This record gives sequence, C-alpha cells and structure tokens, in this order.
Amino acid sequence: MQTDFDYLIVGGGAAGLSLAYALAQEPRLHDKRVLLLEPAAKDQNDRTWSFWADAPSPFDSIVAHEWQQLAFRSPGFERVFPLRRHRYKMIRGLDFYQFVHAALADNPQFTLMRATVDNLENLPPAGVVASTIEGNFTARYAFDSRPPSIDKRPDKHRYLLQHFVGWEVETDQDVFDPETVEFMDFRGPQYQEPRFMYVLPFSRRRALIEYTLFSGDLLPKAAYEAAMHDYLTTTLGVKTYRIAAEEVGAIPMTDHPLAARRGQILSIWGRAPGGLSQVRATHSNAFRRIRPA
Ligand SMILES: Cc1cc2nc3c(=O)[nH]c(=O)nc-3n(C[C@H](O)[C@H](O)[C@H](O)COP(=O)(O)OP(=O)(O)OC[C@H]3O[C@@H](n4cnc5c(N)ncnc54)[C@H](O)[C@@H]3O)c2cc1C
Repeated sequence: MQTDFDYLIVGGGAAGLSLAYALAQEPRLHDKRVLLLEPAAKDQNDRTWSFWADAPSPFDSIVAHEWQQLAFRSPGFERVFPLRRHRYKMIRGLDFYQFVHAALADNPQFTLMRATVDNLENLPPAGVVASTIEGNFTARYAFDSRPPSIDKRPDKHRYLLQHFVGWEVETDQDVFDPETVEFMDFRGPQYQEPRFMYVLPFSRRRALIEYTLFSGDLLPKAAYEAAMHDYLTTTLGVKTYRIAAEEVGAIPMTDHPLAARRGQILSIWGRAPGGLSQVRATHSNAFRRIRPA
C-alpha cells in the first residue's frame, strides 16, 4: 500500500471534501497524489448547510432550496428584506458527501481511507507524518480540518458556542413562506443572551426550524424542544405538526487568534475552499455582531 503522498487531508467533512474537490478540478495539480483520512462513513444526513452566494458555486447542482427574501423579527422591529445580488442557499450534508465522493471515486489521484489521525507532525526537512491505526503516512503538506486545540485566555478573548437543535417539521396548514428565510426571529425571551428562531421554509407546510443561542453553555435538550414547540404553536399558530428529522449542533466561536499554519501543516478547520467558504463566514459575521465595539 502506498504510504507517501503529496498532500494529506485530515477529515472528510465540509472543509476536507471541498478542498479535495477543488484539487480534483485544478489541472495544474493533476500529478499530485492525495490521501484523505476520515473515520466516519459520511453516509448520514448529519447537517444542513446554508450559505450566501452572489455567483454560481461548484455545488449548485445539489442546492436543495434557495431564498430571495429574508425576514428579521424582534419585539420592536420587523422587516422582510428582498435580496438583490445574493441568494441564501441550502445544501443537505448527505447530498454534499455523496456528490464529492462520486466525483473522487474514479480519480486515481485520490485515496480515501477510513481512519482516525492520532498524531500529525512535521517531518523535517519539508514534510509531514500522520499516525493512524492503519499505519503511518507521509506527505509534503497536510491540510488539517480538526478543530485546533487552544490554551484559552478568558481574560483576553471570548469563547462562545453557537448551539441549536433543529426540527424539520410538516404542518397540517399553510404557515410558511417558501420564498422567505426567517433569518433571525428574536421575539422569544432572551435571558440576557441572544436567542433566536431560524426558519428555512421549503414549502408552505414544511420547514427546518432551529432554536439557536450564542452563549457559553448548552441547555438541556428539552429546553430547545420546548422553545420550538412554543414557537410553532403560539407564535405561528400551528395546531398539529410532525417532526420528520432533527439536527443538533454546537459550534465554537471565538476571537482567539488561531494559527493558520504550523510548518507544513495548514489548518483548514472551518474553511471550505471551492464554494462553501461563505458557510463559516456566516458565523464569523454573526460573532462580530455580538462583539462589543
Ligand atoms: C447540524 C449542523 C448544522 C450546521 N449548519 C451550518 C450552517 O448552516 N452554516 C454554517 O456555516 N455552518 C453550519 N454548521 C457548522 C459546520 O460544522 C461547519 O459549517 C462545517 O461542517 C465545518 O467544516 P469542517 O470541515 O471544519 O468540519 P466538519 O464538517 O465537522 O468535518 C470535520 C471532519 O473531520 C473528521 N475528523 C475529526 N477528527 C478526526 C481525526 N482525528 N482524524 C481524521 N478525521 C477526523 C470528522 O469525522 C469530520 O468528518 C453546522 C453544524 C452542524 C453540526
């Protein structure tokens, strides 16, 4: 088995697969050999990505829905904004994994291996070595999509989670507007921290709703569920609904500087070249919004 490559990609999620896809599209890199190490099968629809786009993206063929208006709501202010240049687009995680896996399947440049990287180090003078239970693999460069470990400095920086539980619901009456993403609905209680409802409507009777908070700690799961039930039944006046799917997330957000590079190891955590890069920008913009000036 080949153990030496040009590039190692650690993690086959949004960042790792976007990078692999971009490398596969680049004719100047067609002689490069790439090993992508990912422990999970990535055969579940484990998340939904939504992102801004003002130009065609390489993944437009798998966009499940896009919106041309967004709504902002709070107790004292509500407005529906028509989007001019941009569209807000949504891709289902499983569609993305399958799309990129299919694109790489017959490409001899790429080796996809189910393995966890236990250790990743620079290998002087100009290489890297990844240790896995399947053996050690070397390369000129590694692109690492694992979250960086940081020594927290709460006196200097802020550390928050963007955490949420989402339900894809079907209702028995028309309540949603499939043209308008309910981007942030702050009409519920805030408890001294930003809490909002985020609603992606797919049709008049089907939507993904997510109760989302920016704060230091997670809530008990029942608290997210109670807030979504209350939003559906009280705010929207839904009489009965069915939960078709659920997703859960807790995304770290910080202004702590993160190293982009350590020798031949480049961090791609949360970065998704080749089309999904707007995805993380959504979060950093959201974080900027809540930073005091
Ligand atoms: C339910 C959910 C919904 C989300 N929706 C949005 C959204 O709408 N917009 C948005 O901007 N962001 C969203 N996010 C945030 C999302 O995590 C990021 O947008 C994106 O997935 C980050 O890409 P990534 O490659 O850094 O991480 P991931 O996509 O999580 O990929 C990291 C990969 O690394 C693998 N890995 C971990 N450890 C190792 C190891 N030791 N060795 C090898 N591989 C390893 C993991 O198995 C994983 O597949 C959502 C997250 C969740 C959970």
